[in-house]
Amino acid sequence: MQNPFDTPERRAFRDSVARYVATEITPHVDAWDEAGDVPWSVHEGLGALGIFGFGVDERYGGLGFDDVFMRAAFAEELAKCGATGVGAAVGGRIISIGPLQKLASDEIRDAVLADIVAGRVGSSLAITEPSGGSDVARLKTSARREGGDYVLNGQKAFITGGMKSDYFVVGARTGGEGLEGISLFFVPADTPGFSRADMGPKMGWWASDTAALYLDEVRVPARYLMGEENRGFLSIMGNFNYERITMVAIMLGMMKVCFDHSVAWAQTRETFGKPLIRHQVIRHKLADMSARIDMIEAYLNQICWQANEGAMPVAEISKAKFSASTALEFCASQAMQILGGAGYLRGNPVERMYREVKVQAIGGGSEEIMRDLAVRQMGL
Ligand SMILES: Cc1cc2nc3c(=O)[nH]c(=O)nc-3n(C[C@H](O)[C@H](O)[C@H](O)COP(=O)(O)OP(=O)(O)OC[C@H]3O[C@@H](n4cnc5c(N)ncnc54)[C@H](O)[C@@H]3O)c2cc1C
Repeated sequence: MQNPFDTPERRAFRDSVARYVATEITPHVDAWDEAGDVPWSVHEGLGALGIFGFGVDERYGGLGFDDVFMRAAFAEELAKCGATGVGAAVGGRIISIGPLQKLASDEIRDAVLADIVAGRVGSSLAITEPSGGSDVARLKTSARREGGDYVLNGQKAFITGGMKSDYFVVGARTGGEGLEGISLFFVPADTPGFSRADMGPKMGWWASDTAALYLDEVRVPARYLMGEENRGFLSIMGNFNYERITMVAIMLGMMKVCFDHSVAWAQTRETFGKPLIRHQVIRHKLADMSARIDMIEAYLNQICWQANEGAMPVAEISKAKFSASTALEFCASQAMQILGGAGYLRGNPVERMYREVKVQAIGGGSEEIMRDLAVRQMGL
């Protein structure tokens, strides 16, 4: 679909990511997914393209500007490799970069941001806990003040890239109950009392590790508090907006993978004496998939424009996220039907997309939570 907001700069950026994905990533995703790992050179390769640098100062290797269209473009193009676990393994750091740029002290930024943005080291955002992820205001990990330090205790769960990250942005309770008692902390992985464990095999995102973190009397200097004490909840919510827009773009890329593979298969596979694509039932499936793709793309473009203009459209982002995950679920299911038995075999992108739908419907704010947030934002 034509994007009325496209510019030569945005097209050039998208093309450079698409070229890198087609040559350096797509040919290897089956092997990386089975191996459960992505070579570190890919972190650095994508870092060199600037994808971790949006909203980050140039002195830390950032781009010195933000553009939500470009954020969406790289997310969509990366998803087109057909294994979004690869994007999660490499791009998981992005949700920690925003808080580091906006809230960390100069000392922390000078020490770590350039390496993270260049892809030389990993970083993760750790909010979710074993007791739950939807209700962020009830998180239990504590941080008590002791002289010039904070001491953190608690557990985190489902942390993307957590087994390899050198640095973490951790949500912890510094005040009373509820959303007004939460703060963010910078925690290096080599701090005494910090440990981690892989959460084990997953339904999808095999190329990306998912970690449980354990904080046992983890002592950090008070200057590792990021932003104001007890004001972390608002920062976490603000950060979610960018994460959710990116996830909509990832889902758009996934839907296009499903559609393209369905068309390619339907053009060559013959049943009852003619190519599948000549059967009306199959043509209607393609029409339904294509319409959903167009709707999500148009919605995403409108949201990117509004976010760039300054007013973050939280209700629309929430509605777009659950609309995209339900549209993706539809497209992945239709694509599986069109491929028939061939779609059920491991090592093809449609089989993988079908398994990777659910993490988009649950992670970063589930469909239920997105619906709830949307109507609240609409003042209802
Ligand atoms: C692969 C993967 C990677 C992840 N990476 C990260 C990461 O890097 N960092 C991080 O902090 N977190 C991460 N998460 C966590 C993710 O954000 C949470 O899984 C998500 O927020 C949901 O939390 P939960 O799984 O604890 O479900 P719960 O909060 O326990 O909810 C369970 C179910 O109940 C529904 N539900 C909850 N409350 C209500 C309600 N009031 N009304 C109706 N339904 C409700 C939810 O929608 C969900 O379907 C990741 C998750 C996955 C699966």
